Amino acid sequence: MKPRESESPLDAPAAGTQATEAFELLSDETRLAILVALWEHADPFGDDDAVRFSDLQSRVGTADSGQFNYHLDRLDGHFVESVDDGYRLTNAGRKLVRSVIAGTGIEAPELEPTRVDISCTLCGAAVEVQYERGQVYVSCTECEGLWNGDGDDDHSGHLAKFSLDPAGLEGRSPEEIYAAAWVNTFQTIFSMIEGVCPTCTGQVERELAVCRDHDADGRCEECGHRSRGVARFRCTVCKRTTRATLGVLAKYHPRVVALCYDHGLALQYEFNELSHIKARFDRTNTDVEFRSVDPPRARLTTTIDGDEAWVELDETLSVVAVSD
Ligand SMILES: [Zn+2]
Ligand SMILES: [Zn+2]
Ligand SMILES: [Zn+2]
Repeated sequence: MKPRESESPLDAPAAGTQATEAFELLSDETRLAILVALWEHADPFGDDDAVRFSDLQSRVGTADSGQFNYHLDRLDGHFVESVDDGYRLTNAGRKLVRSVIAGTGIEAPELEPTRVDISCTLCGAAVEVQYERGQVYVSCTECEGLWNGDGDDDHSGHLAKFSLDPAGLEGRSPEEIYAAAWVNTFQTIFSMIEGVCPTCTGQVERELAVCRDHDADGRCEECGHRSRGVARFRCTVCKRTTRATLGVLAKYHPRVVALCYDHGLALQYEFNELSHIKARFDRTNTDVEFRSVDPPRARLTTTIDGDEAWVELDETLSVVAVSD
């Protein structure tokens, strides 16, 4: 191993020097104020989103032009670009400010466990929705649910857990939060199935993860899940990960979308209405059958009103066969 030339921990190359440079750029209040001022001025559909130097300086409120110019210069070419009539955010700058705003919201939102008009797909009991530390938890009030809590997350009766930025709670009722979490997850998985990370557009590794010693009687002691297999996605660039049940995954395939549509159930479009989400669970059922465990090969059969369609997935979640 090559010895490090300085003692700075930032020289450890884990995220690349450009990433550490970006963190360094952001470690200054004036520079952050410049980014926020440019963002506040920007009009998404306007064609003139540049701010003149003097305007920008007065918005930021720095009296010393030399100092202000120095900081603006540091950002120029990274998060800010100079154009004919002033300065504006670059794509990277907009992404950065947006992610901060989406991730923090106007104030830190909370949602205590609240009953919504959804029944548990396993036992039919009432379902509660809760928001905590960036996650929407959907839990059954009666049964043990589908997942075990993992790590420090001890929610029992898990039916689903969704990542949702605080922005997703703004102005929404608990039912709408639940629906928004579904739509967001739907989009995330859709992009990941296609191999494109929804956060950074990097390449995604897909895996059909199976439990080798699965006990299908209730929730397995070995893996903690009710189902033997689960779909796992991981971005090779930004490490974003997502997992989904195979039952959820089955409903992305056009064969299954078409079957449901023929029976009056739209799996896409206006999906964010609670009644559509309810119908998806109430009217359809997906059975998972492992044709082989090593290598994994699973047939997912979706049934609606007695009609069925199936897709077969291999270990990379590629479709290897589809019903007629
Ligand atoms: Zn239940
Ligand atoms: Zn298991
Ligand atoms: Zn990524």
